[in-house]
Amino acid sequence: MEPSAPAGLTVLLVEDNEDNRIIYSTVLRHTGYAVVEALDGVQALELARSVRPDLILMDISIPEIDGWEATRILRQDAETRDIPIVALTAHALADDRERATLVGFTSYLAKPIEPRAVVAEVRRWIGGGAGAPPPAT
Ligand code: MN
Repeated sequence: MEPSAPAGLTVLLVEDNEDNRIIYSTVLRHTGYAVVEALDGVQALELARSVRPDLILMDISIPEIDGWEATRILRQDAETRDIPIVALTAHALADDRERATLVGFTSYLAKPIEPRAVVAEVRRWIGGGAGAPPPAT
């Protein structure tokens, strides 16, 4: 049996690409996490404050407020500054790694990102069971 995430762990997935959003949310839910989805930076800030997720997966290139600015804002808010935020970006450049650290991202995944890598990174920060991630479906 696949180990499941403890009940009650919620991930806020911020991703404007529908295909990626469906893939990542499906695999996370399959693993046992509750997933809340945001399509842009404004929704991301609203949901981070109202839902108080255990972790945020933050695409950098999103409409309205980009992932850099949204994360900077979340890090300045006492209610959200301790939430782990994992950057999802197409830019695997050294400059972006430095910038990711500066704005307060907890860690960084460079696209293309295998669904199993997303699950592994979520587990790394908030737990949710040991062992292999679920098989691809
Ligand atoms: Mn995007």
